[in-house]
Amino acid sequence: MTSEEFRNHGRAVVDWIADYWDRVESLPVLSRATPGEVRAQLPPHAPETGEPFAALLDDLDAIVVPGLTHWQHPGFFAYYPANTSGPAVLGELLAAGLGVQGMLWQTSPACTEVEQHVLDWLAELLGLPGKFTFAGNGGGVIQDTASSAILVALLAALHRVSAGQVGRAGIEHDRYVVYASADANSAFEKAARITGLGTSAVRLIQTDGAMAMDPVALREAMANDVAAGRTPVMVMATVGTTSTSAVDPVDRIGPICREFGAWLHVDAAYAGVAAVCPELRWIHAGVADYADSYSTNPHKWLLTAFDCDACYVTDRQHLIGALSVLPEYLRNDASASGTVVDYRDWQVPLGRRFRALKLWAVIRWYGAEGLRAHIRHSVALAAEFAGKVAADDRFELMAPRPLSLVCLRLRGTDEINRKLLEKLNNSGQIYLSHTKVRGAYTLRMAIGGTATRVEHVRAAWELIDRTATDLLARTE
Ligand code: PLP
Repeated sequence: MTSEEFRNHGRAVVDWIADYWDRVESLPVLSRATPGEVRAQLPPHAPETGEPFAALLDDLDAIVVPGLTHWQHPGFFAYYPANTSGPAVLGELLAAGLGVQGMLWQTSPACTEVEQHVLDWLAELLGLPGKFTFAGNGGGVIQDTASSAILVALLAALHRVSAGQVGRAGIEHDRYVVYASADANSAFEKAARITGLGTSAVRLIQTDGAMAMDPVALREAMANDVAAGRTPVMVMATVGTTSTSAVDPVDRIGPICREFGAWLHVDAAYAGVAAVCPELRWIHAGVADYADSYSTNPHKWLLTAFDCDACYVTDRQHLIGALSVLPEYLRNDASASGTVVDYRDWQVPLGRRFRALKLWAVIRWYGAEGLRAHIRHSVALAAEFAGKVAADDRFELMAPRPLSLVCLRLRGTDEINRKLLEKLNNSGQIYLSHTKVRGAYTLRMAIGGTATRVEHVRAAWELIDRTATDLLARTE
């Protein structure tokens, strides 16, 4: 592709994306594709000769778009949002165009230093103290996802607790244990499996009435393990659980971690970015004093296209100690000087693209003010929606609503709630997901999409209201 051809096709691609965003609201939010339907439309073999680029865009329209669930649809309320935005896409495009590989400082100094700097900015925007930044002994790194942040935090914790022994000799069977709430994300157990600790090392601690980890139960579990000769390695507290957005009491969990010498990782994948708003910083109570590592996903609710997880540690030596393997072909004077950051030692893969450009573009385009406005808008929409649910006797709110997730249920059987969700999602207008709260089937309405406005949330409530009326009439 010549640079002239690139310019032309590039313009067409940007136009295609802008048109997609303009029309996405008219598409059914949940894909109606059946299994195998997309593949059946693709040629069985790769083309022998090159094709015009326009043919790819034609296939996007004809084959791909009907096979998509539209996460950027303003009626997408499932899971948690995966915001994208103009500056994020343009930042991503620039990173691909530059095509640098930032595994070492030396392989592209700006790739590393912009990332260090942008993550220091973000720490400040979130109100995290200096020890999480490069001004202290800590610092931030962009991981692909919160799952990777949990994994590297656990590796660093194992490194610290074993004084490097785990890295050298592997894991002693049945010695180390890790803790999180029963509502922690499944990425926690996955990390335990990947590190070789295994599921048997995982202790899921009971939650209280607000679905947050019960610190008394945590302390008891840790004391029992210690009495049985095991070593607590890490506790993961969740700020904004996947199921109900519950906030674990980090300020009460932290002292228990100190008592047992366990690493404290705070997984704030969805909720953490809300701390750009000073009035929401209460979600981080205890993080400054007790967390050894912390991560949040700008790719969920901070307008930064997937993937982008901001992961921080307060003492980078443990992370680097756990992950650094130095072969001859990577040796260089800058690394040897000890004055630079080599991000290959902060993540599982060796190579990495210019990850910070996208986040840099987003923060510069919106400014702190714009980011705060986005979060406040989502929280206000959720408050209005929750108010309507609360005012309707047919429904009940199933969990507290600290931020922008509303958990609701029709009073009645699980079956009727399953039917309600199915009907809503088949409407093509909105998409919600579900969870179980105290064993009861519960609908999750997660607000926060880039394009979601008050009219979309009001229309969603009207649809829920109408659908419930129909369903209840039929079951009478
Ligand atoms: N932790 C929490 C609290 C989450 O809500 C999620 C996803 O929703 C994850 C971790 C996993 O996120 P990721 O897809 O970035 O690994």
